[in-house]
Amino acid sequence: MKFEDRVVVVTGSTRGIGREIAHAFAREGAAAIILGRSAAAAAEVRDEFVRKGLKAESFGCDVTNPENVHEIVNKILDKYKSIDILVNNAGITKDNLLLRMSVNDWDEVMNVNLKGVFNCTRIIAKAMLKAAAKGASGRIINISSIIGIMGNVGQSNYAASKAGIIGFTKAVARELAPRQITVNAVAPGYIQTDMTARLKEDTRNAILNNVPLGRLGTATDVASVCLFLASPEADYITGQTLCVDGGMAI
Ligand code: NDP
Repeated sequence: MKFEDRVVVVTGSTRGIGREIAHAFAREGAAAIILGRSAAAAAEVRDEFVRKGLKAESFGCDVTNPENVHEIVNKILDKYKSIDILVNNAGITKDNLLLRMSVNDWDEVMNVNLKGVFNCTRIIAKAMLKAAAKGASGRIINISSIIGIMGNVGQSNYAASKAGIIGFTKAVARELAPRQITVNAVAPGYIQTDMTARLKEDTRNAILNNVPLGRLGTATDVASVCLFLASPEADYITGQTLCVDGGMAI
């Protein structure tokens, strides 16, 4: 039980990668706080974890709304007193070629993927800094994407938001390092989730041709790296982006 008595907040954990990250931490003894826009979907995940004997709590929380994030963080702190680990995972895609991309699609993706990370980190870092004064060492993990490193046709909004996360990670890592709070990013490649289930078969095959390890990733591949970055073994790692991509970005 590597994370017994730790509290982990995972944004966008009602399904996909976020759900698996929350599950992996809960299996290691953490209290997993499940967040998603839909309170009902978050409660379903919580109930499923609790039925398995794991510690979990859930809230409806839209990461684009700072007042909503503030309210939910206060509720979490009232009950659990601290937040030890934040995983900024909530993300969306609204793909289109640049000339066809609407301003709305640009704004929506930037709002969820980048401003959402700012909203949650700003509010939760404040609580982590208070706890750091009493010796705690917070962990912040931001889910970027190899698209933020390599770019991709039809994903200028998504690539910009995910590259933004990498810059944000480096800046905040420098700001919080004096208090022993580490901030790192994980850049998954193509992972089997609802987000990639929409891909056409030929697109999927084309992607596989570019993955040296020859398979799509799983949510577990990403979750295990988050566990590592939150563990004492990663105490001396901050400001980094770890690619979990089967070698795609080599
Ligand atoms: P899914 O679409 O399966 O899940 C996205 C999650 O984000 C859901 O829980 C959704 O819940 C939540 N979410 C969306 N908008 C908001 C919002 N405004 N506020 C709070 N929660 C929100 O995505 P994946 O699991 O595939 O992706 C998870 C993360 O990993 C994303 O950041 C994605 O960009 C990144 N990633 C994914 C890759 C992949 O191949 N799948 C590759 C690289 C990176 P709800 O709808 O209830 O709000």
